[in-house]
Amino acid sequence: MGEELKAPKKIQLAMYWAASCGGCDMAVLDVNEKILDIAAVADIRLWPIAMDYKYKDIEKWADGEIDVCLFNGAVRNSEQLHLARLLRQKSKVMVAFGSCASFGGIPGLANLHCKKTIFEAVYGYTASTVNPEGTTPQTHTHVPEGDLHIPEFFDDVYSLAQVIPVEYYVPGCPPTPETVMTAVNAIATGNLPPVGSTIGISKAVCDECKRTKSDKPGIVEFHRPQEIFVDAEKCLLEQGLTCMGSATRGGCGSLCPGVNMPCRGCYGPMPNSLDVGADALSAMTSIVDAAEEGDARAKVGKMVDPLGTFYRFTLPVSMLRRAARPLQG
Ligand code: SF4
Repeated sequence: MGEELKAPKKIQLAMYWAASCGGCDMAVLDVNEKILDIAAVADIRLWPIAMDYKYKDIEKWADGEIDVCLFNGAVRNSEQLHLARLLRQKSKVMVAFGSCASFGGIPGLANLHCKKTIFEAVYGYTASTVNPEGTTPQTHTHVPEGDLHIPEFFDDVYSLAQVIPVEYYVPGCPPTPETVMTAVNAIATGNLPPVGSTIGISKAVCDECKRTKSDKPGIVEFHRPQEIFVDAEKCLLEQGLTCMGSATRGGCGSLCPGVNMPCRGCYGPMPNSLDVGADALSAMTSIVDAAEEGDARAKVGKMVDPLGTFYRFTLPVSMLRRAARPLQG
């Protein structure tokens, strides 16, 4: 983060948030005083978290007027899809910024359910819901004052690249300030990797992790972090915690293992991985300490929430994509 940013001319930069928690926008602010360096090389033309802007103003921009759009958040509804397409049209370079835009992220876990079952829970049987008439949101409602429109809630959550072409990916939930500055620096100087690349390093979290690993690791029993006193020096996986570090792209500085929390995979798959969840599951199960298959199955069977662990940030882009839909009718 110490390098001075230089750009031949000011970049026209747009930032937008879709189905996200706001953490990616906070990550941009987390660069602290470096935000002034960003402002020195970029005109921030759109940033809904910081500046009010109307969609009709964006529509007036010329096609390609924006040099780079950092789009964070997954695509969950028709408004987000409209903005993704509109910003694609107005931007020379689209960057899927953060885990939700890159892989679907935490919102992507909603693909374990469909719109019908989500609405049944949210507007039906949750403890805090009082809705005797079973009212659910409608995209069009007529009231005396006129017609009201709200976005359509989709059955699926999508990553950005599943709905529009994307040039680059910047992973992380959220991206660390170092990752943000690496990306901004690459964009400002034009020193970008080939289109389709992730801007970051190609090492795994395990490569960055300072914990000691044994030559012959063996998992005796799987645990959740709150169930054990964690050894502060030893590899978490060897202590039975489902750490995704071996299958996950580094760049975060192994922040979570550094504070006794297993890596959850937010920086996404390693280059050339077909499915990060399958990679992590394969790596973990291959080192289960068991004399025979039945013993191994029993130990692996005690792992809590394997799908939510291995696909916490990547379900929409995984080979699974979603849970099977219930039969309608
Ligand atoms: Fe570190 Fe986790 Fe890799 Fe072990 S598995 S070395 S704790 S990142």
